[in-house]
Amino acid sequence: MVHFLRGEQQHRVISVRYHTATTFVLRFQRDELTFKAGQHVTIGIPDIGEMREYSLYNAPTDDFLEVLVKIVDDGRLTPRLALLKPGEQITVDGPNGYFTLRPGSLDRHHLLIATGTGISPFHSFVKSHPDLRFTLIHGIREASEACDRADFNSGAYIACTSRADDGDFMGRVTDFLKDFQIPADSEIMLCGNSQMILDVWELLLERNIPLERMRQEIYF
Ligand SMILES: Cc1cc2nc3c(=O)[nH]c(=O)nc-3n(C[C@H](O)[C@H](O)[C@H](O)COP(=O)(O)OP(=O)(O)OC[C@H]3O[C@@H](n4cnc5c(N)ncnc54)[C@H](O)[C@@H]3O)c2cc1C
Repeated sequence: MVHFLRGEQQHRVISVRYHTATTFVLRFQRDELTFKAGQHVTIGIPDIGEMREYSLYNAPTDDFLEVLVKIVDDGRLTPRLALLKPGEQITVDGPNGYFTLRPGSLDRHHLLIATGTGISPFHSFVKSHPDLRFTLIHGIREASEACDRADFNSGAYIACTSRADDGDFMGRVTDFLKDFQIPADSEIMLCGNSQMILDVWELLLERNIPLERMRQEIYF
């Protein structure tokens, strides 16, 4: 499929679906936008000058677009996105990015590691490739932050909770990885905050896994 660069366009909000008090899925009209799972768009609100990047959460075949957003308390954009109502307009640019499934890698195991809303591109992978062989390690504070958990094969999704012992593993993703045997053919993909990504790199390098086997999308 050819993906044309469209420049900024106005898209109408369809719904705002809250997962927790601070995380929601913003669904908006797709219009002419096409993308590959793992890509992101840049979103703004017409009266705010700044735009921010958001990974697309849904499958490329859906007839709508979704992003999973965490409200940053003193953030410029996210508190405003949280107030959007169906029918209002947002400015959308993109898609952009190369954090996509590597051509020819679909028969390999994927080790997907995320913190918080960094699960978004992986949700899009799994929705668009239901047969994908993967283990998803998700770092969150408590089990209620495990968004749309039922969309991932049971057993392949591991919630690592850092504040409450109500997930699959109590501790950070790096604690979980210490005893995890990484399949030799794994494609390793990391998404979320930069500290987690640095910590995982360090741990995998200690196991002599070369950096070339890992790809990452850093949110902040
Ligand atoms: C390629 C890419 C894809 C991204 N995809 C997503 C996504 O799918 N969902 C999503 O929620 N965010 C995503 N982000 C982060 C997003 O672009 C914004 O930075 C974030 O929403 C904050 O915007 P803001 O204007 O409210 O805060 P700002 O006014 O820009 O920033 C306020 C402060 O919040 C920090 N911050 C940014 N994100 C977080 C966070 N999640 N938790 C805590 N502190 C944070 C910033 O470092 C900054 O110090 C992505 C970033 C990149 C680069």
